[in-house]
Amino acid sequence: MLIYSSGKSIDLRPTKIIAVARNYLEHAREMKAALPDEPTFFLKPPSALIPDEGVVVLPARSSRVDYEVELAAVIKERLRKIPARDIEKYLMGYSVMVDVTARDIQAKAKKEGMPWAIAKGFDTFAPLGPKIVPAGDIDVSKLAIWLKVNGEYKQRGNTDQMIFPVDELISYISHIMTLEPMDIIATGTPSGIGPMSHGDEIEAGIENIGVLRFSSLREQ
Ligand code: MG
Repeated sequence: MLIYSSGKSIDLRPTKIIAVARNYLEHAREMKAALPDEPTFFLKPPSALIPDEGVVVLPARSSRVDYEVELAAVIKERLRKIPARDIEKYLMGYSVMVDVTARDIQAKAKKEGMPWAIAKGFDTFAPLGPKIVPAGDIDVSKLAIWLKVNGEYKQRGNTDQMIFPVDELISYISHIMTLEPMDIIATGTPSGIGPMSHGDEIEAGIENIGVLRFSSLREQ
């Protein structure tokens, strides 16, 4: 997928998208989930990516597909087992991603102790954009993060509400799996998640990064 980074267009082809679960206090509460004492995460397939101004397809087999606005970090250089204080130099930059989730399929998987791959992995379930802001240009520790559906605020939070900060998350993940150039780490969503309907217009924004826009259409 093509996206602007440092004034030029790059073809963003990650080997994986890693999404962190329950990393904001209020979202963990609304999901009635216990607070984690270490990060938890799952994988989304790179085939789920769509660019700014794209369309999220609501799959026929799900009756509830939710938005989750998240700060996304994009990797510049391969890293493995790197301490949090050194993470920044391995980052290309930051963008806005929505971790689209088939909530009914996820709820069933949770109940049955099954993986989330289906609930999180449909094509178009990872809108990302509108651009990648270089890591050196921005401090992501305190940024407003929000999402609107048809012009109405649904999510409003701040990255200072994260349980684990971005550098700690990436360091933790790098002790489990090697991160490759262009890999994407979505760092969790604030509270206010909810469903999308056919024909909705969604805007997802992070202060100093930009506003990602997409629409949702039900699968025919
Ligand atoms: Mg999420």
